[in-house]
Amino acid sequence: MINDQIKLAVIGDPIAHSLSPIIHNTMLKELGINIVYDKFQVNIDRLDHWISTDEAKNLQGFNVTMPLKNSIIKYLSELSSQAMDNKAVNTVVRKNDKLYGHNTDGIGFIRSLECENIDLKTSVAILGAGGAAHAVANSLENYGANVNLYCRDTAKTEFKNNVQVHDWQDIYLNKHVNILINATPLGMDNKGQFSNFNFLEQLNPNTIICDLIYKPFETKLLKEAKSKNYKCFNGLNMLIHQAIVALELFLDTKLEIDKMYDLVKKEIKDLI
Ligand code: NAP
Repeated sequence: MINDQIKLAVIGDPIAHSLSPIIHNTMLKELGINIVYDKFQVNIDRLDHWISTDEAKNLQGFNVTMPLKNSIIKYLSELSSQAMDNKAVNTVVRKNDKLYGHNTDGIGFIRSLECENIDLKTSVAILGAGGAAHAVANSLENYGANVNLYCRDTAKTEFKNNVQVHDWQDIYLNKHVNILINATPLGMDNKGQFSNFNFLEQLNPNTIICDLIYKPFETKLLKEAKSKNYKCFNGLNMLIHQAIVALELFLDTKLEIDKMYDLVKKEIKDLI
């Protein structure tokens, strides 16, 4: 039986620990909007079936998380330029019975740095070449950063713009990094760890170290970087900001960003 009140959701697998429902429901409550944001576990092999179920059709929009950010694309009528560039979708909006795909990860990351007054027109190194790395790299490049990206398989990694792709090991050669970003899952529980942090040794003392991971709140990379007195950020601010942009798309309205950010941060800070 479909619950008529459910209109927004996040889909993924696993999904049990997703913070998206609490983030969105906090904002919806503040806005006085009577919409419930739920979560649905959708196995990648069942996406084809799920998309035509009443559960899916009853949604006016949904967020998409791992491992469905690429697989969802074939069910969408149109993609935003960010979703197209990143070949990944994290936000789907239904309009006139058509599904439109967006990617809010890049702008979420940009806003997370902007609110710390960090200059984006600088030299950036990104570790990893998945959906998040593409979103962050493309957005930073659009904001005037000089982006170098390091990954295991350079042959399968393409960018339309000036993002330079290098072999993973070449990070040891780059001494001119002002922001270093981990966009791999290394450091998440059960996802493996960096074999060493020697690449931190060569950086200038003012380099900012960002880990897109927010659980654990402080990864081994951030602990190590902090012990070397680098300024550090985890992925929590990006998570909140990408959600604010997603809700703006769902509701087709502009939100008070600072107010929403403060509210959500207060609500979720003890949950991580
Ligand atoms: P993804 O699409 O699966 O990409 C992961 C990338 O990491 C791939 O390039 C992969 O390389 C690389 N990688 C994995 N294990 C590696 C290893 N042992 N050594 C070197 N490279 C490795 O994942 P994603 O969606 O981009 O997410 C990446 C991270 O960002 C995750 O930790 C995720 O939680 C985080 N994230 C955070 C936010 C936020 O709001 N804070 C949003 C999105 C993502 P191969 O292609 O060679 O396997």
